[in-house]
Amino acid sequence: MKCWNACCDRLVDRPMQNLNKTQTDYCSLYCSLFVKNKLQPIPYSDSKHHKNHAKKFPNISAQCENCGDGINLGYEFSESNKAFCSKVCHQKARKLQGRRGFVRYQMAKLLRDGGREWWSARALAQVMDNKQMIHTLSAGAVAQHLRRPQIKIMIETKKGEGSAPTQYRFRREYSRYPLVALIRGDFNDSHRNT
Ligand SMILES: [Zn+2]
Ligand SMILES: [Zn+2]
Repeated sequence: MKCWNACCDRLVDRPMQNLNKTQTDYCSLYCSLFVKNKLQPIPYSDSKHHKNHAKKFPNISAQCENCGDGINLGYEFSESNKAFCSKVCHQKARKLQGRRGFVRYQMAKLLRDGGREWWSARALAQVMDNKQMIHTLSAGAVAQHLRRPQIKIMIETKKGEGSAPTQYRFRREYSRYPLVALIRGDFNDSHRNT
């Protein structure tokens, strides 16, 4: 399936190198933000680097999910799903507390960035299975992870009607915080005091 960004000609999922962990309609977080923020490609004539195809897309600023430092997402494939400023910060995410600490981070990131508002536990498990090759994750396990105190605070829950499953949504007021720091608890207390 082709990326929904009309300016992009890539596929949503690349079989050999799947860096796209959160987007089911776009090839990358970059393209989803590009469309959401109504960005335009830089016309070739305006670009000093007109020979380089990747340069016709502007950088999009984001923040490191661990330390909050500014990072740039670029259209280039390896830059288009960036989440951390450095290897050190990536390592900190991998070392989140608990056996499934990093999985919970990925789950929260999918809820926040994944392009749909409400998610069932099954839908989350399915996307994580497809994108991240985490095959052992059942809907029940996902629901359990979402009930963990450090995840629960950033998730809103809606009971399904009748036999419909419970739905989950990322609380937008938490969107501006680096996710790893949030899960670790760095931002809860320190932020109340300022
Ligand atoms: Zn794309
Ligand atoms: Zn960082």
